[in-house]
Amino acid sequence: MLSPIATSLSIVFVSLFFGTALLAAWRRFGVQFHAVFWALSFIFSAAGHGVRVLGVIWPDYQSVMAMLACQASVGSFALLAIGFRARAHLDHRVVAVLWALFAATIVVVWSAQPLEWRMAARIATSSADALFVAMIVFLPSHAKGLSSPVRIALTFFGLYILSVGIAAWMARPNGEIAEASFVILLSLGTPTGMMATGILTLFILAADLAGELQKQAQYDYLSKLLNRRGFEELLAARRTVSKGAGFIVATDLDRFKSVNDRLGHSVGDEVIRRFARHLQDTAGPDDLVGRMGGEEFALFIVSSDGRDVLERVERLRIGVPALYPDIDLETPVTASFGVVRLKTGESLQQAYGRADTALYASKDAGRNNTVADLGEAA
Ligand code: GH3
Ligand code: MG
Ligand code: MG
Repeated sequence: MLSPIATSLSIVFVSLFFGTALLAAWRRFGVQFHAVFWALSFIFSAAGHGVRVLGVIWPDYQSVMAMLACQASVGSFALLAIGFRARAHLDHRVVAVLWALFAATIVVVWSAQPLEWRMAARIATSSADALFVAMIVFLPSHAKGLSSPVRIALTFFGLYILSVGIAAWMARPNGEIAEASFVILLSLGTPTGMMATGILTLFILAADLAGELQKQAQYDYLSKLLNRRGFEELLAARRTVSKGAGFIVATDLDRFKSVNDRLGHSVGDEVIRRFARHLQDTAGPDDLVGRMGGEEFALFIVSSDGRDVLERVERLRIGVPALYPDIDLETPVTASFGVVRLKTGESLQQAYGRADTALYASKDAGRNNTVADLGEAA
C-alpha cells in the first residue's frame, strides 16, 4: 500500500513544482498568458494524483476518488492543449467543448455504474488525453507550432496514452491481461510523461523569451522600425537572397533641432514617429527600413531599376511636409536623401558611407533634396 502512495505523492510534488515554476515565469518575466494554462494543467495533475492517494487512504471513497482522478487527468491535458493553442493565437473554445463532453461522459459512466464502469472511465480518459495531445501535435501549419523533434516526442506520448486505453480494455474481467499489468503500464509512463511535458513547457517559455529579446535587440522602441543593428543583420541576410541587386537610401530630417527647440522633445518624437511610418508605408515587402540613430534613417530597396528607385524616393521626399498638418512650424518639415546603388562585393559600411556622403551633399545643396549615384546595373 505504501508504494503507490509514495509514487503518487512524488508526482504531486513534481507537478506542483512545474505549476509553480510556470506561474513564476509568467509573473516574473512577463511571458505570455498561456503559461497560466500550462501551470493550471500541472495543478490539475497534482490534484489527480492527490485524490488517488486519498482513495488509497479511505477505501470507502475509492470509487469517487477514481472518478475525480480521471477528471483531473482529462482537465490537465485539456489545459495543456488550451495553452498551446493560446500560444499559437488560436481559438480554444473547441478544446473547452471537448473537455466538457469527456467530463460529462466520465460522470455518466461513473454514476450509471455499469458492470465495468472503471474500465469505461479509463478508456474515456485515455481517449480524451490522446485527443488533446493530437491537437497539440497537429496545430495548423500557419500557427506558431512546434519543432519536429518536439512533435515526434509528443506523438510517441500520445501513442502511449492510447495504449493505456487499449490496456484498460484488455484488463477487463477475464480479459487478456491482468489488472496489475495495466497498473504497471500506467505507473511507467505517467511520471515520465509528466516530467517530460513539464521540462518541455518551461523550455518553450525560455526559447520564446529568448526570441523576444533577440527581436527587441533588433528594433527601435520609438519608431518601431529596425534599429541599426537589426538593419545590418537583416540586410546581410537579404543581400544573399537578392544577389546584391538593390539600393541604399540614407535620409535625415532637415533642421530638426529647431523642431525640438520650438515645440519640445515630445513633439519632436511624434515628428520622428510619423516620418518612420511614412518610410515604412512606402517600402515594398522585400525592402528594409531602419532607424540608424536620432532622426536619421536608412532604406534598402530591392530593385535593379535606378530610375524607378529615384522616382520612389522623390515621391517619399515630396510627401514629407504633408505628414504634419497639425504641427505649427514657421517652415514645413522636410527631409534630405542620398541614394546609391549597391556595388557587387561592397560591404554595407562602404555602401552606407557613400549614401551618407550623398545625403550630406543634398544638405549642402540647400536641404529638401535628393542626391543619387545610380551607377551601372551589375
Ligand atoms: P540638419 O538639417 O543638418 O540635419 O539639421 P538638424 O537640426 O536636423 O541637425 P542634426 O541632424 O545634427 O540634429 C539632430 C537632432 O535630433 C539633435 C537631437 O537632439 C535630436 N534627436 C535625436 N534623437 C531624438 C529623439 O529620439 N527624439 C527627439 N525629439 N529628438 C531627437
Ligand atoms: Mg537632421
Ligand atoms: Mg541627424
